[in-house]
Amino acid sequence: MKFNPANNIQDLKQFGEFGDVNPSITDSSTYTFLHAHDMEETFHGKMEGCFLYSRHWNPTNKYLADALAAMEGTESAWITASGMAAITCALLQVCNSGDHIITSVTTYGGTYAFLKNWLPKFNIEVSFVNICDLESVEKAIRPNTRVIYTETVTNPLLQVSDIPALSVIARKHGIQLMVDNTFTPMIFSPKALGADIVVYSMTKFINGKNDCVAGAICGSQQFINDLSNVNEGTAMLLGPVLDPMRSAGILKNLHTLHIRMQQHSRNASFVAQVLEKHGLKVRYPGLKSHPQHELHTRLMNPEFGYGGMLAIDLENADRAESFMQVLQDKGVGYIAVSLGYFKTLFSLSGKSTSSEVPADVQKAMGLSEGLVRFSLGLDQDIERSGHLIEEALREMGLIQ
Ligand SMILES: *Cc1c(COP(=O)(O)O)cnc(C)c1O
Repeated sequence: MKFNPANNIQDLKQFGEFGDVNPSITDSSTYTFLHAHDMEETFHGKMEGCFLYSRHWNPTNKYLADALAAMEGTESAWITASGMAAITCALLQVCNSGDHIITSVTTYGGTYAFLKNWLPKFNIEVSFVNICDLESVEKAIRPNTRVIYTETVTNPLLQVSDIPALSVIARKHGIQLMVDNTFTPMIFSPKALGADIVVYSMTKFINGKNDCVAGAICGSQQFINDLSNVNEGTAMLLGPVLDPMRSAGILKNLHTLHIRMQQHSRNASFVAQVLEKHGLKVRYPGLKSHPQHELHTRLMNPEFGYGGMLAIDLENADRAESFMQVLQDKGVGYIAVSLGYFKTLFSLSGKSTSSEVPADVQKAMGLSEGLVRFSLGLDQDIERSGHLIEEALREMGLIQ
């Protein structure tokens, strides 16, 4: 049977201590042991089912981790206090000083800055490649390469990574394939497609409420054990644990993710078609004009659509800023970074979430200074929103 992330979440049976339909929230940082000896065994990882200290594991985060592992089809998962914590801890767990990483040049700006500016301080080398050019990926491999890193659908250019093909390359050379699936939860199941480690910023679609920052790492039991190992685990020792109150909220929101993704996709697809009809330069993986439309179609779980993100290139930054202003004034949505929210958000990528990427690199990767990134909201009446967007474009003289 085909892998279905929504069914996997629906089939979970997680109850609270009194049969509560929502698992109980652990309001404790530490845990008591009935027998002194049990503490020692737990500390050394020899005893299952006991909790030691909430930076290591706490029951509420465990419920959410189990749900994410079910969604991804990985053996295990770990919850972090941000998407960046998930990305940095996972990479630092795999790589040591002297190692080498291959990454897509188009990634989230924070990830780019970490790879470009921070890792070299610890003698970890990084090669930036066009992830759609599989030959250049394989050519970049060195004896000390440990990871190929990419985003399923990259930020902000919405390039689609060929995960099965990348995993073949990674496997052939004994390298791990790590995928950031933040833009496309449920739409893509990277593990089922061949990825070894899947990371998320849950701040975005998974939580979907823009009320907190959170992240997750999904991978093998061995990898998650290593990450949380009390003596050497990167996550345990750097300590970016999420507060259990927030985990409990995210777990409830995860149960509506499939419906939200469908609506985000429907709305983005509608707006992309409106924009394209007027001859504007729009990037949306669901449009036939998108360079990886076929690839996306072949790899996706089709019931969730082509995602809620689209980008429109207005070529210059002033024009793009005025456009966003008019849209905000008309009530289409908000000028804000972040995504996966119930309201539509738009931002100028080159000046915000990709501003860490130097101007010449932005240009080389095809990121125009007038690129407006949209995260379409859950608008019930998307035709009305489409009309407002057309009105804004008309007022600016960009369409007839
Ligand atoms: C936002 C984002 C991140 C960083 O996540 P935080 O939760 O803000 O730390 C990483 N990757 C992608 C694709 C993102 O959109």
